[in-house]
Amino acid sequence: MYIVSIEEKIKNLYEKNPQANIIVDKIHRYAEKLSGKGYNNIKIMNFCGTHEWTITHYGLRSLMPDNVELIAGPGCPVCITPGYYVDLLIKLSMENYTVLSYGDSYKLPGTKLRGVRSLFDAKIRGWDTRIVYSFLDAIKTAHKNPDRKHVFFAVGFETTMPTTALPLYQGIVPKNLLILSAYRLTPPIMKYLLDEKPEARLDGIIAPGHVSAVIGSNAWSFLPRDYSIPTVVAGFEPIDVLLAILYILKMIYEQKPMLVNEYTRVVKPEGNTIAKKIMYSVYSVVDSYWRGIGVVKSSGAIHSEKYREYDLFHNLGFEDKPVDDKLPGCKCPEVTLGLAKPTDCPLFMKRCTPNNPYGPCMVSVEGTCRIWAENLPVKL
Ligand code: SF4
Repeated sequence: MYIVSIEEKIKNLYEKNPQANIIVDKIHRYAEKLSGKGYNNIKIMNFCGTHEWTITHYGLRSLMPDNVELIAGPGCPVCITPGYYVDLLIKLSMENYTVLSYGDSYKLPGTKLRGVRSLFDAKIRGWDTRIVYSFLDAIKTAHKNPDRKHVFFAVGFETTMPTTALPLYQGIVPKNLLILSAYRLTPPIMKYLLDEKPEARLDGIIAPGHVSAVIGSNAWSFLPRDYSIPTVVAGFEPIDVLLAILYILKMIYEQKPMLVNEYTRVVKPEGNTIAKKIMYSVYSVVDSYWRGIGVVKSSGAIHSEKYREYDLFHNLGFEDKPVDDKLPGCKCPEVTLGLAKPTDCPLFMKRCTPNNPYGPCMVSVEGTCRIWAENLPVKL
């Protein structure tokens, strides 16, 4: 793993983005004015794992004034996917199902501490678990093997839901392919965080760009309206993130919390209306469990009545009943909710590394622990 120094990161940032200097300067000026008004610890949460990557990779934290803290949020779907889903899929692979998964869920640990912990471990033991690059690949695999039963592990937020919803809607999914819907919806977890974890004490939120391309920037209007929190939907270039921080500080200074869409080149206020229509005809919204966190109201998606025959739980008569899947010593739920940093975990880069992940936040490239492990941040 090659880790560049913070000086190199900043040099790289300014070389590629000459305007960044000007924005950072303005951020400092607003932060100073806010400090004069008693704002000594302004907490801005970036929801999305990809924003966390941009912040960490380009060393943006080290450019922040002392009274501005950037906090990683819950935007990693693999990190919050229940561990007992993985246990179930491992069991099915042992019962002659072919289990198909995206690469970033393949090493996701179940609830066991040793032995067969992931689909990757199951593969090593000789059971048929495979990585696919898309749901269409899963469809092709199931078509080629009509006598074998297949399960697709559908992990993701609203960005990923259309990828299974559309083929189901089009009627091209074979009957020997079931789907375990681990889909989770993003606005409800932010509502949960603000209602149930007041200790997070957020002053501003950078809302996700990719998710908002589907659900629309308007999906976040409840944040300034109901919680008076300045919110910016942002893109993923360092300039996008710096601008989002600047807009948030300006709104705090002017005491005018609003929703700003900085990512207008991709995100529309209403989102992708066709994708949403298809998604919500194929899936119904239900209360769902987030790993190590709990049941969050209206935050999950199961197949609606018309498509229920493809739903793994329905088809096999299983009940999706939460099981305690917090791994001893792992602080992933706290990291996910912005209540701890990866470096607060005693297992970080000791028992838990990108090559040998112990907890779920070290598995996916969107997981905060994995991002920090691969881009070592400074000024913690
Ligand atoms: S470093 Fe590993 S064990 Fe610690 S919180 Fe992160 S994922 Fe969990």
